[in-house]
Amino acid sequence: MIRVAVLGASGRVGTAIVAAIKKSEDMELSAAVDRGEDLQVLVDSNTDVAVDFTQPDAVMDNVAFCIDNSIHAVVGTTGWTQERYDAVRRQLADHPDVGVLVAPNFAISAVLTMKFAEIAAPFFESVEVIELHHPNKKDAPSGTAVHTAEGIAAARRKAGLGEQPDATEQQLDGARGAQVESVPVHAVRMTGMVAHEQVIFGTQGQTLTIKQDSYDRESFVPGVVIGVQKIAQHPGLTIGLEGFLGLDV
Ligand code: NAP
Repeated sequence: MIRVAVLGASGRVGTAIVAAIKKSEDMELSAAVDRGEDLQVLVDSNTDVAVDFTQPDAVMDNVAFCIDNSIHAVVGTTGWTQERYDAVRRQLADHPDVGVLVAPNFAISAVLTMKFAEIAAPFFESVEVIELHHPNKKDAPSGTAVHTAEGIAAARRKAGLGEQPDATEQQLDGARGAQVESVPVHAVRMTGMVAHEQVIFGTQGQTLTIKQDSYDRESFVPGVVIGVQKIAQHPGLTIGLEGFLGLDV
């Protein structure tokens, strides 16, 4: 039995994670922590793994507490910067057995979309990314779409592909999307949608579309569960769930 604490337990994602742990046969809920509660409960409840879905101004203190107390951390909370990653790495140096997983996206369909796109990229002349989200999303394009485009661009460079063919000479602002390392990324904001991504590849006489859809916050649960189950085998800082999925293809 893995003893799991959820930080941000009453939040939108936290609620789904708590419910999944309660139903699980190999995990048990050691603590459900909300804003303002003392983290000492993690130690007192013999927590093995803490799952953090709180907010960017809380996550660093939470992770620091976990590392100091030899508790593994599986983190979905956003707001990470290189400085933040470096701070966690420095702290982990004194606690070599502790694992911290920070995943910008726990939806396995989104993680696989990125991976499949990297595999396909060398074989196609053209590629564009379209992300579609609910209209309350504050940033555009999504971090996942940017990450997808960066992975495609890296794979194209490695394969020796040059610029994509595009004869556009005049355009309305934004008509060709945002350029992420020369990969166009288009953002759609639409009532009724949740979180969706498409990568369209094209070459002579053929296209390939990779498409994923997240319909609700349940979509993050299987990825978080994998993180919790595997974190003890991955000491140190891991960024991205892909490192836990055995995707060495
Ligand atoms: P949310 O509904 O606002 O939930 C966050 C919860 O954390 C709230 O209940 C909040 O309490 C609580 N909280 C704030 N500070 C806390 C602290 N110091 N200790 C314990 N609890 C604290 O947000 P959400 O949609 O669940 O998302 C949470 C975070 O995960 C965000 O950063 C979001 O961007 C990220 N996220 C990541 C993924 C991924 O796949 N990586 C997926 C979805 C969301 P109050 O209501 O009192 O503030």
